[in-house]
Amino acid sequence: MSRLILDETAEIGVDSRGLVRGEDTVAEWRDPDGPLPWAVEDWQPEPEIVACAQLGEWAAVLARVGRHAQLGVRRDGRRPDWHGLSKSPEDMNRGMVGATLLGPLRLAEVTAVTRREDLIGVQVQGARRVQQIVVPRHVENPPGDALDPALARHAVTAIAAQAPGAPLDLPDELTRDLQRLLHRKPFRTTWIAVGLRVAETWELPGGFQVPVVYDVEPGQVQGFVVDEATGAPHSTLQACRNHHLSGRPAWCSYCLSPTCGACAEAVRPCRLCQGAVCGDCVATADGRCPACARLTRVGMLARGRYGVSGGGSVWHGEVPNVQVTIREQRNYWTLERWDRYDRVTFPLDPPTIHALREWVKTS
Ligand SMILES: [Zn+2]
Ligand SMILES: [Zn+2]
Ligand SMILES: [Zn+2]
Ligand SMILES: [Zn+2]
Repeated sequence: MSRLILDETAEIGVDSRGLVRGEDTVAEWRDPDGPLPWAVEDWQPEPEIVACAQLGEWAAVLARVGRHAQLGVRRDGRRPDWHGLSKSPEDMNRGMVGATLLGPLRLAEVTAVTRREDLIGVQVQGARRVQQIVVPRHVENPPGDALDPALARHAVTAIAAQAPGAPLDLPDELTRDLQRLLHRKPFRTTWIAVGLRVAETWELPGGFQVPVVYDVEPGQVQGFVVDEATGAPHSTLQACRNHHLSGRPAWCSYCLSPTCGACAEAVRPCRLCQGAVCGDCVATADGRCPACARLTRVGMLARGRYGVSGGGSVWHGEVPNVQVTIREQRNYWTLERWDRYDRVTFPLDPPTIHALREWVKTS
């Protein structure tokens, strides 16, 4: 049996059974039953101690990060002496990524990664970013091929992987015997893709501070906030009157102040003219805007001003910022609407005409 001699005089050595003295005394390899700080302290990441043995003042461990494995021996609490069993800079890097993102003793194969410094964050119009916290956010079992583990490690952490110096100086047979022991305990590598989670605070004009949280997909650099109502991604946000941030707030044509989907008084189209009216300005329980609620029939003499001849009818409603005119001629109905943002004319459909007749009956 191949053996590493530790102390020739005392006949102490290491072989595939454990620490041995002479021919008969064997302290067998066993699972560690507690932490062994001396065996992990010069490693980055922390290695898995696959087996350990203790014989008198001698201690030995088989330590590994994936396929990177070393035999460590020490005497009487001194600094350990390390011997290489197999080298794998790739697994050292996978271990570094795993320890950083998944937890101790984990190995990670990375398919895509976004580096913090590449992030292009969202913008909030007219506001100032006062805080930004960026942390990696990973998904497991992503599709795609593996990246170079060294590149992945570099993208995830500035800390380089390292193991205590360990020459490959053991007899071949002992190396093979100890590798067989290691292989009995398989290790697992988790496939991940690494994006970012970004948490920011923006200060609006007037000093109000709003939080924004968003994710950047693995391998992407542009940050988006997804509109909860529409699912649309927005990289530029605007604040509504209630200090919510959204991609495209809607302006009320009446009070000229924006709302978003999260506002209780969110802008909706007027039931009749389709103009944007917020919940604070809406004039009737059935959802008409102030201009439509105020429609009155235009007298015979004034109709000409609205381009309607004698046989037709005109209704007109007017409030600050908005005017609505409805014309009927030979049973053809149109609605013209004018506001600060738009001027539109469209024909009215039969259900709307029916409702309209009820609304303007008394006027
Ligand atoms: Zn040595
Ligand atoms: Zn309004
Ligand atoms: Zn809002
Ligand atoms: Zn209206």
